[in-house]
Amino acid sequence: MSTQYHILVVDDDPMMRLLAAQALDASGFNVVEAVGGKEALECVKQKTPDLILLDVTMPEIDGFFVCRELRKTETTKNIPVIMLTALDDVKSIGSAYEAGATDFIIKPINWHILIQRVNYVLRASAAFSALRTSQARLEHAQRIAHLGHWEWDVARDSIHGSDEAYRIFGIEPGTALSSNIFKNAIPADDAQRLRRGLRRLIRDRVTFLLEYRVIRPGGEIRIVQQQAEISAANGKCVEKIIGTIRDITIEKQTEEHIRQLAFYDSLTGLPNRRMFQERLTSALALAEHNKTQVAVLFLDLDRFKRINDTLGHSIGDAYLAEIAARLKALVRRSDMVASNGEGEENLIARLGGDEFTVLLTDFKNNLDVAKVAQRILNTIKNPVLIDGREVVSSVSVGIALYPEDGQNVDSIIKNADTAMFHAKSSGRGRYQYFSNEMNASAMAKLALENDLRQAITNHEFFLQYQPKLDLNTNRIVSVEALVRWRHPQRGIIPPVEFIGLAEETGMIMELGALVIEEACLQFKRWQTAGIALESIAVNLSPVQFRRDDLVAHIAEILANTGVAPVCLELEITEGVVMHNEEKSIQTMKNLKSLGISLSMDDFGVGYSSLSHLTRFPIDRLKIDQSFIADLPQNLEKAAVVRAIVAMAHSLKLVTVAEGVETAAQEQFMRAVGCNQFQGYFLSRPVAANEIESLITKFYALASPAPSEPSLTIT
Ligand code: C2E
Ligand code: CA
Ligand code: CA
Repeated sequence: MSTQYHILVVDDDPMMRLLAAQALDASGFNVVEAVGGKEALECVKQKTPDLILLDVTMPEIDGFFVCRELRKTETTKNIPVIMLTALDDVKSIGSAYEAGATDFIIKPINWHILIQRVNYVLRASAAFSALRTSQARLEHAQRIAHLGHWEWDVARDSIHGSDEAYRIFGIEPGTALSSNIFKNAIPADDAQRLRRGLRRLIRDRVTFLLEYRVIRPGGEIRIVQQQAEISAANGKCVEKIIGTIRDITIEKQTEEHIRQLAFYDSLTGLPNRRMFQERLTSALALAEHNKTQVAVLFLDLDRFKRINDTLGHSIGDAYLAEIAARLKALVRRSDMVASNGEGEENLIARLGGDEFTVLLTDFKNNLDVAKVAQRILNTIKNPVLIDGREVVSSVSVGIALYPEDGQNVDSIIKNADTAMFHAKSSGRGRYQYFSNEMNASAMAKLALENDLRQAITNHEFFLQYQPKLDLNTNRIVSVEALVRWRHPQRGIIPPVEFIGLAEETGMIMELGALVIEEACLQFKRWQTAGIALESIAVNLSPVQFRRDDLVAHIAEILANTGVAPVCLELEITEGVVMHNEEKSIQTMKNLKSLGISLSMDDFGVGYSSLSHLTRFPIDRLKIDQSFIADLPQNLEKAAVVRAIVAMAHSLKLVTVAEGVETAAQEQFMRAVGCNQFQGYFLSRPVAANEIESLITKFYALASPAPSEPSLTIT
């Protein structure tokens, strides 16, 4: 840039000022900032800027006022002013022009376009001042600005324009024109504004700028921006008005495009919540008129939080983008929906986070909708490969129909959400139609959260213990503590129904501490009673694992209860340690340095990776029940379990099979050399006082020939 332009940025929002200054500075402009209207008016007195970027809404003095003030003073009245206005405040655009703004830009601001606009306005302004000062330079200036100019002899009512001005109106250059043109080529409402502007110009003698539509003789509509001022007057009588006219249709279209951006999600490119609501609104209106149905599918990924927490946000984002692409392809493909060619019927949107919605309008019956839901389930189930890592999740889908499940946008989305929630709590990875009873169950969930808060103070939690058998000695060597909730109305609630909620609400901290404490106290009681157990295992939630004082906390419990550290096993899942691996490994090492031991729980599901295992200072591997369930018939799983055991042993890890329910499974585990097992075949989780009799029973049963198992337990 040969001359350095001075730009004054006026905005009360420091972030906006900073961003604007950065963008302008990077493009070679000299930026001065003002934090409000008063400061801005002071600033221009000190040094006249070449252009002002002016925010509309500011405390004390707003942008309109500043603009009007600027236009009143000789030295500032011709400074180009670009006003910044909020997206949904389209009304203020009109006011901006009335106040004398040169141009406006809608927030949120696309900085690239801002710079282009600034350049454009500076060029136009240069051209305009050329027009004012020298007719000779006019042609040149106009060529630069792509600008037409005109001259109106008010007394004779004749208008002459430059070739470019005629071109903008689609009229043969040189044609004789009068103010009739306002009637013929400008839509009535715009013409009225134009007349108002001209009247004000004549009365107040202030340069005015207006944006209006032009209808060309062929019917094509252009949007133009016009600036006008008085060039000759005889006393009160205005004789001549001159002005420029600029075709801004393309700019307007660009602006429209930017506005569109506000309706799309930037990560996935899908329509956003706002767009979805708008489209659903019109779909409902149409359906009401045509007496047809509308379906809304509410999707929520089942394990997304875990993916984000354990693999990090960038993988989480990549995962969402891939899921969005799949859904888009699927919904577009959806053969049951007749398209009208505009692609208007099927809409998939991202509501936020891991929530998506699908709008279906043209289907024959519920079965059609179910088909789409089933296809969605299938497509999400397929793993996504990111950075060479397979990420798997599933999705829960809720379906609500218009008119039966809701009459307006909000109730339909809410009920689809409720149905989704239901799909989640009844096992995930499935779809569910909304029914009226569900609102009741959603309420119940809310109630559960409230009850959970009470439960700790009311001592409603208690522990059960599930024994673990050593396959070599056939003795019970350890127990796993499992928490239960004795709900005053609902009876015993299993942990799957409240651990997640406790984690979400942070209540897991208190609950978890309670569990470890009680488990240690119980272990001490057994020891005192002479019951021979080597250790007790306690599950540790990922949320607990991340607490900063975890090691000190555990050490304190051990000290208070008098349990030797070697007797405590903490069970953690792979998910726990994948998040911030270095830190996790350090935490594990610190825990180990207390003398306690660590088990990898639920091994095989999720992110199982051998290379990771070697880095973690763990002692034990608990093979997830899902591998044991189909044994020994399922040859594939049998092979996997064999491999896991062999691998674990090569890493000197003790192996524990979980969920062993049959004699055949127990035999299989014994045959592949697994060290320990737990499961219903041995015993369900039981109250503390039942553990003693179980131990005694197995002590008696333990045979010197361990290859002859004879477990008959009820
Ligand atoms: P987990 O750590 O994998 O615990 C084993 C679960 O499998 C227990 O379910 C147990 O009752 C069940 N189980 C044991 N043997 C068999 C069998 O042979 N067949 C079948 N089908 N299931 C068997 P439970 O007690 O409902 O606990 C579920 C999960 O809740 C636990 O899975 C654990 O992740 C979590 N949990 C339980 N107690 C606590 C706790 O105190 N703190 C934390 N953070 N989580 C806990
Ligand atoms: Ca466990
Ligand atoms: Ca487990």
